[in-house]
Amino acid sequence: MVYGIKRNKLLTDECEAIAEEILRSFLKNRYGEKRPIDISGFAIEYLHLDLEYKILSPDKSVCGLIRDNCVDVDYELGSTGRIRFTIAHECAHYIINHSIYKRNVNFPEDYSACERLADKIASCLLMPKYLMEYSAECANLKLPLTIYDNCTLKGYDYRNTKSASDLLKVSKSAYINRLKDLGKVSYGDREIGRLIPVIV
Ligand SMILES: [Zn+2]
Repeated sequence: MVYGIKRNKLLTDECEAIAEEILRSFLKNRYGEKRPIDISGFAIEYLHLDLEYKILSPDKSVCGLIRDNCVDVDYELGSTGRIRFTIAHECAHYIINHSIYKRNVNFPEDYSACERLADKIASCLLMPKYLMEYSAECANLKLPLTIYDNCTLKGYDYRNTKSASDLLKVSKSAYINRLKDLGKVSYGDREIGRLIPVIV
C-alpha cells in the first residue's frame, strides 16, 4: 500500500514535469496567462493532430480515441468539460507514445495503468498549478478543500468549486481530482448541517 502511494506520488511528479515542459513550449510567452488552456489548439497546432467530432459508440462507452495522427471525440459527450478532458486524454496518449518523452520516465505497460497515466497528464495539461491558484482565488475557494464521507462537500464549497472549475472549462470532478493530486484536499467526518452531495 505504501509502495502504491509512493509510486502514485512519483507518477504525479513526473506527469507534472512533462506537462509543464510541454505547456511552456506550446504557450511560450502566453504561459502564465489567466485563461483556460486552448486544448484544441494544442492538439492541432502543437501536436499536429487532426481533431474529428463524431459518434463513436451508440452506448457512449467510447468517449474518444487516437488513431494514426487523428483524435476522434464523441460530440455527444455533453459538457464542454468532458469534451476538453477527452481531447487532453487522447493527446496524453500521443505524448506517452512519443519517444522524446520516454527518456527519463518509467511508463507503465499495462492498459489500466496507461489510462491512469493519460488521465494524470491530461489533468496537468488542462489545470497547470498557476491556473489552479488563480481559479481558486477568483472563486473564493478556501484550500484545502474538505471532503466529507469521501463524496460530499459543504454547500459553499460545492458552489465555489463549481465556479473555479467553470473558469478553467473543466468538470467539477476533474477539478477536485486535480486538487487531490496537489495535496489540497482534506477529509472530514460528516458534520451536522447541509451537505450537498457531489461525485468526486
Ligand atoms: Zn485512454
